[in-house]
Amino acid sequence: MKTINEIDRLDLAKKSLTGIAIGDAFGDSFFRETELVEDAIYNNAIPETQWRYTDDTVMAIPLFKSLELFQEINQDYIAKEFANNYDKDSRRGYGPSMHRKLMEMKLSSDWLSITKASFNGEGSMGNGGAMRVSLIGAYFYDDFYKVSEQAKISCEVTHYNKEAVAGSITVAIATALCTRMYFGEKITKKDWLNTLIEYTPESEIRYKLIKIKQLPCNYHIKTIVSALGNGVKMLTQDTVPFAIWNVYHFMNDFENCLWKTVSGLGDRDTTCAIAGGISIMNTKKDEIPALWINSVEKWEESIFYKENEK
Ligand SMILES: [Mg+2]
Repeated sequence: MKTINEIDRLDLAKKSLTGIAIGDAFGDSFFRETELVEDAIYNNAIPETQWRYTDDTVMAIPLFKSLELFQEINQDYIAKEFANNYDKDSRRGYGPSMHRKLMEMKLSSDWLSITKASFNGEGSMGNGGAMRVSLIGAYFYDDFYKVSEQAKISCEVTHYNKEAVAGSITVAIATALCTRMYFGEKITKKDWLNTLIEYTPESEIRYKLIKIKQLPCNYHIKTIVSALGNGVKMLTQDTVPFAIWNVYHFMNDFENCLWKTVSGLGDRDTTCAIAGGISIMNTKKDEIPALWINSVEKWEESIFYKENEK
């Protein structure tokens, strides 16, 4: 496999973050009246949209900045950046518990007590750790141990929970695998899924990943949703397996992966952010719709990426 220097790693992370942003904005544009959404999906026509991304992308940007500054995830740094970004613009679709947590994190640097205290000390099993993590898998793609460890610590800052951590590891490993495939490593679909199962800690997520083997691509999307969820509960175990099922069947086809993912409805900005951040890694640049790349709000020019701008 090709050896890689730091700048190339950041380019990979950048590509995955762009996949998150496109998936996030794409999915979010389908939060409309049911009839309109069903028509749009049937005709592969995106409803009129400003291509604005939501919290999924806003919370992925600090992870990228941490890799850029420290070449790894620095938990104190990303906690501070999450809170700063929330302060810059809180209307990006954060869930109710994230609003509370980020306000607390703005006032206190003790993020560990804040994250551990959620849900009566269980920590949140929301999908917020998994939705932002794919770029870690792209950056450390050649070292599964590092991918798992860095995904875990990136998740804990806001989601100190077993399922949330397991789902973050799944998404990051899936991204590492797709990045390896892009560089020419021969990985069969079967091995791809088995590697995910191998690296995902014992959890409901891991159990659902095993189920994917029995859910072929030609099953009706409603059957898939009833088996795996679609994020409607906003839990990691209700979100990640569905996104993974879509990537599994469209792992070198970013465009169709997103169309299939959005057809499951549910928490569609997040399922598409996850599927987008992974599948973009194994998709050639000229196969990503130019309109999507050109239309999506540019994270690199945003107040969330640039220092001290509000
Ligand atoms: Mg969102």
